[in-house]
Amino acid sequence: MSDWPILEERTFCGFDSSLEEARIVLFGAPYDGSASFRPGARFAPSAMREDSWGLETYSPELDRDLAEVRAADAGDLELAPGFAAQALEAVEKISSRLHEKGQMPVMIGGDHSLTLGAIRAARKHFPHLHLIHLDAHTDLREDYLGDPLSHASVIRRCHEELGDGRIHSFGIRSGLAEEFQFAREHLDLRAFSLEGLGQLAQVLGDTPVYLTLDLDVLDPSVLPGTGTPEPGGVSYRELLDALKEASGFRIVGSDFMELAPRLDLSAASTAVACKLLREWLLLIG
Ligand code: MN
Ligand code: MN
Repeated sequence: MSDWPILEERTFCGFDSSLEEARIVLFGAPYDGSASFRPGARFAPSAMREDSWGLETYSPELDRDLAEVRAADAGDLELAPGFAAQALEAVEKISSRLHEKGQMPVMIGGDHSLTLGAIRAARKHFPHLHLIHLDAHTDLREDYLGDPLSHASVIRRCHEELGDGRIHSFGIRSGLAEEFQFAREHLDLRAFSLEGLGQLAQVLGDTPVYLTLDLDVLDPSVLPGTGTPEPGGVSYRELLDALKEASGFRIVGSDFMELAPRLDLSAASTAVACKLLREWLLLIG
């Protein structure tokens, strides 16, 4: 029925590239089973997709349009609440498939624990992988109340995958004393600000890099809609400038994690996350 007035498929920013021809493939991972404080990140992919329909595809800041970017939206993974290992496997599987096809995965979380699945996949395909980690929190606990797959332990688990000197954390302002001690011994951790990303891009050169963005790196006055808000964070402008510098890395995958849209009834947090994601896609696309 060709005259049937069906609505266009509702993808992020109206992306209409086919999954086959896209260079960047977005997928949602609606899981928040490891949220240690306030859950709600499972609603981020659908909220960001819906919010994106009100966002222009053109960025005056970058003078680029998403129409020039070969990106597709693969939809959301189906993840059962509480099945952490299965959720990680699902993220690893889709990420691996995209790497095998030479495509770049961009995951919308979900809580930060899911990044481990993405890192396991990326490390298999890029053995010299480095991780850029923007976050308010160290996420270096050995476990959280006995849970080694908690979002509070995700960077510790990533360190087990990647080893010393390959994780570069920025914006960190919260964690246990022993986590900061662990970071001094094994990571490249810059507390409180995002300064130094540009210089690091020059040092790493052509090294493959995965960027994980825990949106709570932003100050809660900018993005209150997150499970574990932490005062003293960076501004929208500082984060956008950092993403511009981070696009100088050889990015092979990235994620936007920990937006909990229903914790900010004004929906401004979702708008912040969406616009940052648009700019990021324009920067890497
Ligand atoms: Mn965090
Ligand atoms: Mn985190």
